[in-house]
Amino acid sequence: MLQRNLETRPDGSLDGEREEHEAPSQETPVDKPRIERAVREILIAVGEDPDREGLRETPARVARMYAELFGGLHVDPRRHLRKFFSEACDEVVLVRDISFNSMCEHHMLPFMGKAHVAYLPDDRVIGLSKLARVVEEVARRPQVQERMTEQIANLLVEELHAKGVGVVIEAVHTCMTIRGVRKPGSVCVTSAMKGCFRTKSSTRAELMTLIYGDRR
Ligand SMILES: [Zn+2]
Repeated sequence: MLQRNLETRPDGSLDGEREEHEAPSQETPVDKPRIERAVREILIAVGEDPDREGLRETPARVARMYAELFGGLHVDPRRHLRKFFSEACDEVVLVRDISFNSMCEHHMLPFMGKAHVAYLPDDRVIGLSKLARVVEEVARRPQVQERMTEQIANLLVEELHAKGVGVVIEAVHTCMTIRGVRKPGSVCVTSAMKGCFRTKSSTRAELMTLIYGDRR
């Protein structure tokens, strides 16, 4: 098996692969003034004075932040998977430990963790950083971890026609650690197995060893 273990840099690019920088993203169709008004309302509702010095810039700051955190709603992650190249490759390709931040749609609180994305190519192979970009864009929207895992796997199945796709996501949900049951340290693990990773237990076991082998 061919294993790739790459660190993601803060800009989302990967070591080991150089990539032309994309043009700065255009203004997203996020209605920032509307967010500003809503945040100001929340501040008043919780009993704060939105006009005091420390809070004066907060609604605008939060609006910019949401535009960034939900920017994935306005892009199509498929475009990264359409730049494939044809290559005979009969080995599993795994990018492990792709860090991401997302936003739990139930509480509007962040969850963050790592995605491990693997596929067994048929004849379509893509640049490794594209897998990280897909994770990034699927994460940047109101999400639940289970759906995010499925979405990433399905995108790969549909665009790469791979023989198999395996996605495992581990994340800490701040809606579980700072509120509600308050269980800091709990990690939620989800997986989506498609094709041979679903039907062949030996292939799936091999993937799990690649992901977790040296950490057990
Ligand atoms: Zn939640």
